[in-house]
Order: sequence, then C-alpha cells, then structure tokens
Amino acid sequence: MSKKIKDFGIEKTLKNLGIKEENKGTSVGGKYFASGKTIESFSPVDGNLIAKIKTSGESDYDKVIETAEKAFKEFRLIPAPKRGEIVRQLGQKLRQYKDDLGKLVSYEMGKSLQEGLGEVQEMIDICDFAVGVSRQLHGYTMHSERPGHRMYEQYHPLGIVGIITAFNFPVAVWSWNTALAWICGNVTIWKPSEKTPLCAIACQNIMNEVIKENNLPEGISSVLVADHEIGQKLVDDKRVSLVSFTGSTRVGRMVSTNVAQRFGKSILELGGNNAIIISKDADIDMSIIGAVFGAVGTAGQRCTSTRRLIIHESVYDEVKNRLVKAYGQLKIGNPLDETNHVGPLIDTDAVNMYQEAIKKGKKEGAKFIVEGEVLKGKGYESGCYVKPCIAEVKNSYEIVQHETFAPILYLIKYKTLDEAIAIQNDVPQGLSSSIMTQNLREAELFLSHAGSDCGIANVNIGTSGAEIGGAFGGEKETGGGRESGSDVWKYYMRRQTNTINYTAQLPLAQGIKFDL
Ligand code: NAD
Repeated sequence: MSKKIKDFGIEKTLKNLGIKEENKGTSVGGKYFASGKTIESFSPVDGNLIAKIKTSGESDYDKVIETAEKAFKEFRLIPAPKRGEIVRQLGQKLRQYKDDLGKLVSYEMGKSLQEGLGEVQEMIDICDFAVGVSRQLHGYTMHSERPGHRMYEQYHPLGIVGIITAFNFPVAVWSWNTALAWICGNVTIWKPSEKTPLCAIACQNIMNEVIKENNLPEGISSVLVADHEIGQKLVDDKRVSLVSFTGSTRVGRMVSTNVAQRFGKSILELGGNNAIIISKDADIDMSIIGAVFGAVGTAGQRCTSTRRLIIHESVYDEVKNRLVKAYGQLKIGNPLDETNHVGPLIDTDAVNMYQEAIKKGKKEGAKFIVEGEVLKGKGYESGCYVKPCIAEVKNSYEIVQHETFAPILYLIKYKTLDEAIAIQNDVPQGLSSSIMTQNLREAELFLSHAGSDCGIANVNIGTSGAEIGGAFGGEKETGGGRESGSDVWKYYMRRQTNTINYTAQLPLAQGIKFDL
C-alpha cells in the first residue's frame, strides 16, 4: 500500500472494513470465491491503487443462483416482522461502520466525505423505514358480489431479486433495494459497478456479520463483483424474478427489453436531465445555493444533478452574474478535505466525456460564461479533476438534450411560466425538477397536471438530495421505476386475489347460470 493512502488514514478504514490487498469478488453469506479475471480499483482522489479484486466468473454465477434459490425456500417462511428485525440489525451495523464506509465511498468514488457519510446515513434510514414496513405489508379486503363469499388481496415474495447498480451511489442504492426486498421475503444478488467494487465488498462483509449472527441461510444476500457480462446473465436469467437496474438509459433500454422478453419484472432507475426554474418571484439567495449545490455536488455525477437553469428574463442577468461569482469561489480538490466543494470525476473516461460535451456544445453555439478545464498539477495527479463550467444555450441543442455526467450547467432564458414549464419538460428524461418561487400560483401550476412531467417535482428546493420516505424515480427515459419509500415495497412482491366461498352453493360471478 502506498504512503499516500496511509496519509489519508485509508489504510485503517480498509482494515476495519475487511478489505485486503487482494480480494475475492463473489460472496455468498460468509463464503468468498472467484474464478474470473483480476481487476484493480484506483482512487480518482489521488490515482493510487486501492486494492485488487478477482472477479466472479461464470461458474461462480451458477453457484450463487443455486444457493439463492435454496435460501429463498427457507427465508420466505420467516414472518415479515422477524425479517424486519434482521434489517434492523443491518441498520445497527451500518451505524457502527458509518465513518469507515463513508470514507471508503469518498475515496473510491470521489464524492465529498460529507456526501459519503450522507450516503451511509441513507442506508441507515432505509433500514429504519423497512423495519416499520415489515409490519405493514397489507392488501385490500373487498366485498364480494356473491353471498357468503369473502374476497381479499395479499402479497407474496417474488424470489430472487437481482440488483445492478451504478458507480455514483455505490452503497445506498443496494441498501434501498435489499432492505425492502428482504422484508418482503426475497433474497438478493448484487452486481455492483465495476468502478466501485471495494464499496460492494465492504457492504457484503458487514452483511455477512448479520447473516452469521442470526444463523440465516447464506444465500439471502450475495454479491458478484464482475463486469457487464455477469450483469447480462442476471438480466437474461428466468430464475431472477425482478431485476432492479440503476444506470444509464443506454444500458437500461436493453435491460428493460430483455427482462420483458422473458416476462420478468424490472425496476429501472436511469438517467436524468434535471432543471430548476428560477422565477421572477424567486428568493435569489436561496436559488443560487440550490443551483450551485445541485450542479457541482458530487462533481455533477448525481442522477438528480442540476443540468439546466431556466431563468426568468427579469432576473436572468442578476442570477448569471451571481453564479459566475459563486463559481469563482469554488474550491476543487481532495474530497476527503472538508474545505473543498468539488472532488474528482470517477475516471479519465468521464473526463473525456466532459471535454467532448464542451466541444460539442461550443460547435452548436453554446456561449461559455465560466470555461471548463481539466486541472493539472499538485493535488490533481489522478487526472480526474475538472472545473465546473456554465454555458448559455438553447434547450434544443443536442448536447442539452443529453445527460453528460459532469459539472456542466446550462442557462436558458424564459418569458412566461408556461414557456418555462414547456422547456423544462422538453427533454427525453423525466427524473427531477424544481421551481424557485414565492408565488403560490406559480408553485401550484408547476405541480399541477399542466406542470412538471418528472417523477420528482420540488418547490424552493433544488433537484438533488431526496429523502428515503418518498418514492424515488422518474418518467420517460428515466425508466418509470420507483425505489425506496412510500408503497414501493409492492414492486418487490407478487399480488394475489383470493375469493373464499363459505356456503354450500356455487354461485358464479356476473350471475352466470351453469346447472348440471
Ligand atoms: P452504466 O449504465 O454504465 O452501468 C450501470 C451498471 O450496469 C453497472 O453495474 C454495469 O456493470 C452494468 N451493465 C453495463 N452493461 C450491462 C449489460 N449489458 N447488462 C447488465 N448490466 C450491465 O451506468 P454508470 O455510468 O455506472 O452510472 C451513471 C448512470 O446511472 C447515469 O446515467 C445516472 O443518471 C444513472 N443513475 C440513475 C439513478 C436513478 O435513480 N435514476 C441513480 C444513479 C445513477
């Protein structure tokens, strides 16, 4: 391990989380094995090698599925509130490991330490939420049209839930899915992003403690650290009842089609292209903070990052000038240093995409009022640090219609609120949206049927930073899936309608006569 890693205190963190110099990428319960190729995880923070991982091969995949199938037969019989108790214990463990796991998220993915800790807090919150829901897996009871009959609905577990996740929320998305899937009686198999494999191994190590302490069937939670080919196997496998996929629209489109072909279920959480409307009646101070955090937080690598600001013409110049000033004060550097506002992009491929987008934007006519740049020199040795930038554009530009996973903010001017809402909706994606206004009429119009077409619509809050209590997800090319709070648990169960006849007659529905 290099000296630099020691400097950040990462060495101790890795040790506490059970990460070794060489790790095996397949885990079922406490058992680790791997027959695939070896990959390396480099930190975008300093470019150092963190650890190596032998990935899961095809033969590991079959073992994992078979063990999961076996575990499901046992796990589904445990009463839901007792499964909730297991999720409660997972939440307790996460509290215990919060500092270490948050730090690893920050170091392996590159988001700020505060955001890394926040991600672990989200894991704890979803566990608490799921514990409550484990006593609320209720269906409706309805009156039958036939005398002496009772009718009701109930929910049953699905079986194996495959979870495929993106690099930008390397631990939280897994827990959103696992906590709910478990209380519903399912078992889970996780294929994390190959860009953040150590976060996944750390989570599984924590999980293994819970499995061991409760003497649970080992196949209730497995991880397959591997590339997209193993992800594709999960997508195509009939034994996987539900595939919960979080990632790009490009891959999500294929996942959606392939899972539907085999009549499996899917939850799709795909790309966003989120906008804030800043009205003539906005609190400008608040709007600037919301916009800047939304655009540069996680270096613009949140699905809910603010990509577009749609600004009323009467406040346009003021907002623009204040944004330029605020961007001038941003500190870009090591995300473990809490005085920095912006950390690195995930890797140099992402840096290339940022540069390409700027080039493309300029070609289309984008006017950059804060120029982008790849940072070089001391502290930027990983080559992954870029300067957040701002451009004045038309919403119709191809680059504006596309989600670039980097801190590029587009400014668009509007005259009427109807026009602003039309601009906000005129992109293929439909994840998060918001309006900054102190005008009740504007706020309500934005939230009405004639308003935002997104899965998330906020008033006087930015586009990023959702709470776990609400259902999370978006429309159109964002995929239509929902995860986390509200009644999302229903996605993880199959619905069954039951009719019971407690008479000695056999009347048919709709009054149909059938006498023998
Ligand atoms: P990605 O689509 O490149 O990869 C996501 C996952 O899919 C990875 O685990 C990858 O290995 C896997 N994968 C790739 N090809 C596959 C295949 N053929 N079959 C099965 N699995 C395959 O996405 P990324 O770059 O890791 O993440 C960024 C994207 O994720 C952005 O578009 C972002 O908006 C989106 N995202 C959406 C949400 C949401 O809730 N809507 C949340 C986080 C990220």
